[in-house]
Amino acid sequence: MSLTGLKPPVKEALCPLMRRVADLDKKDAEAVIGYLADPLWTSSALATALTNEGFIISDTPIWRHRAKRCSCAR
Ligand SMILES: [Zn+2]
Repeated sequence: MSLTGLKPPVKEALCPLMRRVADLDKKDAEAVIGYLADPLWTSSALATALTNEGFIISDTPIWRHRAKRCSCAR
């Protein structure tokens, strides 16, 4: 057994959705984070709107992220 050299969790443990959001321009990333926080946007409506703009995503990762069932909530 060796307990030396252990690494803390990396912040790259983001879920697929947030990893892609992190790759966007700051302006776009902030907008998407705002939509995610807005209860008026249902997950499927948001997925459709983002996909129409070229950010192709399904509602499942959005739902998982909002429900905190994704890897970035751990
Ligand atoms: Zn997430």
